Amino acid sequence: MKTNIVIARGDGIGPEIMDVVLQVMKAANADIHIDEIEVGEKVYLKGLANGIEPKSWDLIKNAKAFLKAPITTPEGGGFRSLNVTIRAALGLYANVRPCVAYHPFVDTLHPGMDLVVIRENEEDLYTGIEYRPSDETVHALKVITKKGCEKIIRYAFDYAARNGRKKVTCFTKDNILKMSDGLFRHTFDVIAKEYPDIVHEHWIVDIGAAKLADNPTQFDVVVLPNLYGDILSDVAAQIAGSVGLAGSANIGEKGAMFEAIHGSAPRRAGQNLANPSGLLLAACMMLEHIGQPKVSELIHNAWLKTLEEGIHTYDIFEEGKSTKKVGTKEFGEAIVAHIGQLPQKLQPVRLHMQEKKGTQSVKTAVFPRETKRCVGADFYIDAKENPLSKIQKATAAISGVQLTLITNRGAKVFPDGSDQVNYSDLWRCRFMADTITQDKIIDLMKVLVQAGLDVTSQENLYMFDEIPGFSSAVG
Ligand code: NAD
Repeated sequence: MKTNIVIARGDGIGPEIMDVVLQVMKAANADIHIDEIEVGEKVYLKGLANGIEPKSWDLIKNAKAFLKAPITTPEGGGFRSLNVTIRAALGLYANVRPCVAYHPFVDTLHPGMDLVVIRENEEDLYTGIEYRPSDETVHALKVITKKGCEKIIRYAFDYAARNGRKKVTCFTKDNILKMSDGLFRHTFDVIAKEYPDIVHEHWIVDIGAAKLADNPTQFDVVVLPNLYGDILSDVAAQIAGSVGLAGSANIGEKGAMFEAIHGSAPRRAGQNLANPSGLLLAACMMLEHIGQPKVSELIHNAWLKTLEEGIHTYDIFEEGKSTKKVGTKEFGEAIVAHIGQLPQKLQPVRLHMQEKKGTQSVKTAVFPRETKRCVGADFYIDAKENPLSKIQKATAAISGVQLTLITNRGAKVFPDGSDQVNYSDLWRCRFMADTITQDKIIDLMKVLVQAGLDVTSQENLYMFDEIPGFSSAVG
């Protein structure tokens, strides 16, 4: 039984590089059945805001993998990111990007660099939940869940184990974001204990990023929340010296999408110039994922052999290092001619497959549910001046709750606030009690509104197993 995959040729250089990839997979006897769909510019310009036709979804959902060439997003507003749409629709929670230096055949400042960035793909600031509660203030919600952390961190350790990698490093900013990044870090520390053979370490993302840029060879697998992962996976690919050579995988429990990390390079389109390597390496990751590691190895090693023979497309061609400048097609033909050969100077690829992948089952049992008790509420109030006295007057008759805190942009202004605070127009006003009912919170809301205060939103404060599920003031 051939494995069903779906491909899209995309825009710009997409069709040319996809042709090469299909030709190489055929020559290596990949056991696949291919369906093709159209995505990208033409679909956007038909008026479909996601860049994909509704009829394509059934094919993608029934396939084991989707290999996507880069697309062009038309200029102007109103178009939604196709990648974000596909990731969300298929639940592709892990973005995997190997960043490898091919020294001395491709220029790099970091010979020996060989790391894999594993980025959480569904949560964090990328849920796109934003609000403007007042004239001067905009809020963006950083969403981190227990299940999301557990899935991505377990994936990173499983990936390391499967691929013979020795160390997993986690980057967060848990010194500032104690609850959201703190959950990611805590999950990392707990799950790491299940993998005693793999070294684990954590760095605060700022110093971690500096170390990554300065000496990437000290990293092996790096796992990060979505935003840091987005930024640092580009940094890592760039300093490997090989943005045009990198592929990436987006893995879900049922589906997966594979692509080059570069765009559609419209100015190079149709000239037989583009380097197909990024999409080819993405195809290698796909073949491994669908349980054809031998085919993946065969192609990857033929590609390394071609690279070390100095047969290079224009983007990596260098007088003295390269031996032959070739076009897209000729590069593909050289790879086909090298199938069955191993590189002599670059490290050959050997996949350490311990189990057939394809469907990644996710265990999410590390953290049991905790008991939850409501102990207060924060009310956000839009006001030009500190609303303290109005609030105290309005709530004087409500018993059993106490105004304990007012902050402005997170900084404390009551009690004992600093008079150096640069005020904005949104005030977070906290009421606490031993235990508070929803009715009491509604009573508070009513009296605040009746006093003419502009309450823009309200957030309940809970204790979880007697640990606060809310932050206090900065400072
Ligand atoms: P780009 O990656 O297409 O090009 C950046 C530079 O790299 C250009 O000089 C280009 O000629 C060169 N380049 C890229 N890939 C190459 C290859 N395989 N071989 C040789 N040279 C290559 O980025 P861009 O110019 O910012 O974007 C062009 C279009 O691609 C835009 O419409 C953008 O939205 C889209 N894009 C799509 C994806 C995707 O589909 N995943 C990703 C990034 C950008």
